[in-house]
Amino acid sequence: MHPFQYQRAESIAQAVATVAKTPTATFIAGGTSHVDLMKEHVHQPSLLVDVSALPLKQITAFEGGLRIGAGVSNTAAAYYPTIQQQYAAVSEALLAGASVQIRNMASMAGNPLQRTRCPYFRDPTQACNKREPGSGCAAIGGYNHVHAVFGASTACVATHPSDLAVALAALDARVQTTGPRGPRTIAFPELHRLPGDTPHLDTVLTHGELITSIDLPAFTGRSHYLKVRERASYAYALVSCAVALEMDGPTIRRARLALGGVAHKPWRLPAIEAMLVGQQPTEKLFRTAAQAAFADAKPLEHNTYKIPMGRNLLERALLETSGLRPLHGPAGTAFAASVGGVAGEMAVPR
Ligand SMILES: Cc1cc2nc3c(=O)[nH]c(=O)nc-3n(C[C@H](O)[C@H](O)[C@H](O)COP(=O)(O)OP(=O)(O)OC[C@H]3O[C@@H](n4cnc5c(N)ncnc54)[C@H](O)[C@@H]3O)c2cc1C
Repeated sequence: MHPFQYQRAESIAQAVATVAKTPTATFIAGGTSHVDLMKEHVHQPSLLVDVSALPLKQITAFEGGLRIGAGVSNTAAAYYPTIQQQYAAVSEALLAGASVQIRNMASMAGNPLQRTRCPYFRDPTQACNKREPGSGCAAIGGYNHVHAVFGASTACVATHPSDLAVALAALDARVQTTGPRGPRTIAFPELHRLPGDTPHLDTVLTHGELITSIDLPAFTGRSHYLKVRERASYAYALVSCAVALEMDGPTIRRARLALGGVAHKPWRLPAIEAMLVGQQPTEKLFRTAAQAAFADAKPLEHNTYKIPMGRNLLERALLETSGLRPLHGPAGTAFAASVGGVAGEMAVPR
């Protein structure tokens, strides 16, 4: 591993100032993602500023919603009663990610800021504009089965890997930050960027900008997260989706849908959301919506399968969220139901 210095931050202000003044410094929280990238020679920071001891581990009620400190562990958030009961998609997404041990270390800010699992990004012998701007993209002509079907560019076809981010995008979460220029609020769907010709920039955060909390606005509907992966656990999403529905009696008042594993960021579907509003849930409506959701998909050579898989997953998530079909299988995963069950995962109480 490349030599680096390590410093434990004693305050938010000190953490921000320390990283901001050193272009090659970076924050580290649980370290479950960042240390891997350092060991693989993908990242070579000169200084790690550890933010895991900062007072960012509270979950508090906030303007009718919930403020989750950036340092809250993925496990603590997944089992927090209000999150399980009112924001089920967040709990399900967290429990569908990684392993128990990783979730115990992983933080609520670090999870959505993890970098792509594109194998070419993680292999320094391969061309990758995200790792090394201007070097090219080996995935475009390579084995691109896990890559994007929406929003990709000629510079990058990588997908964003975080399950949590998909649920947060569908629930219109907001990110609170403190940076060298002071605090700001970022609407979660605006946090991640599409690749364009600057795929090395994953988010709109500036250097030294620290996430302090993730705020979930008040929500009285039902939400649900489903993920398809290659193994029953310990695997990233091939395709995933989060659905949040708010009802007026039998009519859909508000719908928010986000797909994961299909783009460089959680992929919201505003036109499909609008199609659902004012309608009563039916199998036909949800099938039509799910078909329309993938009408503009642009598959690569090896990932055409994501289109039928995504349509089926979204239709099922809509049916389960609306109550037209009972929830089936362990929390957050569609895999178990389709191959006959998985031991060792807990269902999320609803
Ligand atoms: C084997 C394996 C399987 C996995 N499977 C999944 C999966 O299925 N689904 C999934 O979603 N994830 C999965 N993960 C990823 C895992 O969830 C992430 O590694 C973890 O959530 C990252 O959190 P962390 O706190 O350890 O982040 P770190 O590794 O500490 O940091 C990650 C990034 O966030 C930045 N950062 C951290 N905190 C802040 C902050 N407060 N403000 C600004 N920047 C910050 C760091 O600088 C770094 O760039 C898997 C990981 C492994 C190793």
